[in-house]
Amino acid sequence: MSSLRSHDDTWDIATSVGSTAVMVAAARAKETDSTDPLIRDPYARVLVSGAGPGMWESFLEDGMQDRIAEADPAGAALFANMLSYQAVRTHFFDRFFAESVEAGIRQVVILASGLDSRAYRLPWPVGTVIYEIDQPKVLEYKSATLAAQGVPATAERREVAIDLRQDWPAALKAAGFDPNRPTAWLAEGLLMYLPAEAQDRLFEQITELSAAGSRVSAEAVRHHDEQRRARMRERWEKMATDLGIERNVDIQELTYNDPGRSDVTDWLNAHGWAASGTVSTDEMRRLGRWVEVAEEDYQDGFSTFVVAERQPAG
Ligand code: SAM
Repeated sequence: MSSLRSHDDTWDIATSVGSTAVMVAAARAKETDSTDPLIRDPYARVLVSGAGPGMWESFLEDGMQDRIAEADPAGAALFANMLSYQAVRTHFFDRFFAESVEAGIRQVVILASGLDSRAYRLPWPVGTVIYEIDQPKVLEYKSATLAAQGVPATAERREVAIDLRQDWPAALKAAGFDPNRPTAWLAEGLLMYLPAEAQDRLFEQITELSAAGSRVSAEAVRHHDEQRRARMRERWEKMATDLGIERNVDIQELTYNDPGRSDVTDWLNAHGWAASGTVSTDEMRRLGRWVEVAEEDYQDGFSTFVVAERQPAG
């Protein structure tokens, strides 16, 4: 059990798990500003800028990559690899949604949506309804920030402000969700923040709410041994210290590295879905976005991107 977490903890955008949403949005902003971006998230920068002081500010600093390269060339490769990972992850799930709407799905649920701006930046077909589930203050921050910029949603966007460890299916239905219509679900950047049993419960709930033809996609993480985690933590701490960056978030301390966590692909295949997984390093290489790193610990893929389709009953 993580030392910073409890079964009913809450947060806003700049604290605890909320701040991880700002970190990944900062990575999207950085990719968007790069010379040959894989994805474009025109709202990421404004969403990061309004979140207050934090480590994410150094991500966006001009010349940060040069500064890292000077202080710690191997660290610069790690940083570039991490940014590239985030771009590839966004690209993968953007394509998941494009294929889902192509297949006729018009009901979308983004679990733990954080500062995901897909409801504002993707070209959704007319009639698409997107439900975003996250803690109240996170959703409130995103919609207020984008409303203040005059940014309209590109689909009908409905907020479901609730913790995913509570009775979110009831809240989702109360917001108008129809379990008889096929749905495209996304769990990106979420599962590591849930205990293993909460992950299983989440997929049970998704399964109960999914009509045949529904699709689900997820970023699945596996258990890492504690020595490896310690090495990773020390590596990032060293980099931050060398650069004089104050680490106000230790992401590892927010995650549940539970040994008994289900393999998401296997779980879905055993519960009425046809699922397959793509190891993140393979996807990064396929897109020409793998950045060589010296550290052994980073060679075997941070996660698996899972996609599944609900099979007809019977
Ligand atoms: N999916 C978004 C993305 O990729 O940009 C956000 C990912 S961020 C790393 C993690 C998000 O999960 C945060 O927005 C956080 O509030 C949300 N989250 C984590 N645990 C949650 C829970 N139990 N209930 C609701 N939201 C949760």
